[in-house]
Amino acid sequence: MNRHILPTAMLGILGGGQLGRMFTMSALSMGYRVTVLDPDIESPAGALADVHLCAAYDDLDALQQLADTCAAVTTEFENVPAESMAFLEQHIRVSPSSNSVAIAQDRIREKRFISSAGLEVVPYLAIENLIDFDQDLTGHLPGILKIARLGYDGKGQVSVCSREEAQNAFLDMGCNPCVLERKLELQTEISVIVTRTGVGQSVCFPVAENHHAGGILDISIVPARVDTEVTAHARQMALQLAESLDYIGVLAVEFFVLEGGELLINEIAPRPHNSGHYSLNATQVSQFDQQVRTLCGLPPGDTRLLSPAVMVNLLGDIWGDEEPAWDILLSQPNVHLHLYGKKSARVGRKMGHFNVLAEEAETALQQALELQSRLK
Ligand code: ADP
Ligand code: MG
Repeated sequence: MNRHILPTAMLGILGGGQLGRMFTMSALSMGYRVTVLDPDIESPAGALADVHLCAAYDDLDALQQLADTCAAVTTEFENVPAESMAFLEQHIRVSPSSNSVAIAQDRIREKRFISSAGLEVVPYLAIENLIDFDQDLTGHLPGILKIARLGYDGKGQVSVCSREEAQNAFLDMGCNPCVLERKLELQTEISVIVTRTGVGQSVCFPVAENHHAGGILDISIVPARVDTEVTAHARQMALQLAESLDYIGVLAVEFFVLEGGELLINEIAPRPHNSGHYSLNATQVSQFDQQVRTLCGLPPGDTRLLSPAVMVNLLGDIWGDEEPAWDILLSQPNVHLHLYGKKSARVGRKMGHFNVLAEEAETALQQALELQSRLK
């Protein structure tokens, strides 16, 4: 993995949503060319890429074309078939590895791996069939039953208070493997995004504090308003995890902060993360620049925070018959609007985000909240 891949090489990405689009923008601005594989004809990344392969993620012809035409391939989401990545690995450089993606795409494997790396996870029970409900559930109720695979943005999660409710939720979710987690009292949530290279160099982005609404990330505040010991601990845990995975690429680690500052890992994502979007404006290199750099065997860029920042997600909910009044954001000198070019807005769909930069995180937050309420 030491060889540098340089512009104007072709880079491939599996998945062409907003994360793929922002990767594509970074790669194009550095002079690389990009091929996107995404079955959606209206893929936000496909619209910008040099080549859009409009095919399924397990389409062998499309995968072969990626292998034949790209110098390296990455992914924008964990639900791409790990087998497709394993196929590509036989031909070209792929990062992150199919093994890391396979772990991150299954909550049961993910939690087992994190525990085996000596790190704390949210206490859970693996529920793989109805017999698993015969266990003592008391320590895990009231809880959340989460589907092990293919859940995102709070989808595939049901709050349950009793064994009966949990069993019914399991049946409703088609008896697919799940985890049952106790619903914890959180002081707050934070995340760390790590970049690790093929020669084991690792750097973290500044720690973000995350607030969710309806199971979807709403606001990230950077730097996180938690004790420096807590952020230092979170960084150390994220680095240790990346090391244990022998990870190459950009890895996001979500944490729950409990009263007293105790940290539990909630989940990981083998890719840039919504809570890292502030890096598009508030650090020298963004998480997408880092994804390009690690994919190409280059050292990570400088991740020091240049300014406190607050990121606000823009969901389809604020689209009426017309576009939202973007002048509310664009008339502000310290606000950066990022729209993903999605053709149709739906409730809960991530359409864009904006970053507010200010000398103090609190000032940025007040302005961000005010702008958010004016957009509604
Ligand atoms: P997703 O894949 O949808 O991001 P998460 O497991 O991260 O799934 O859950 C989404 C959000 O729901 C979390 O960021 C947190 O706010 C809340 N949540 C999830 N699990 C728990 C839990 N065990 N206790 C308290 N809150 C939780
Ligand atoms: Mg999450």
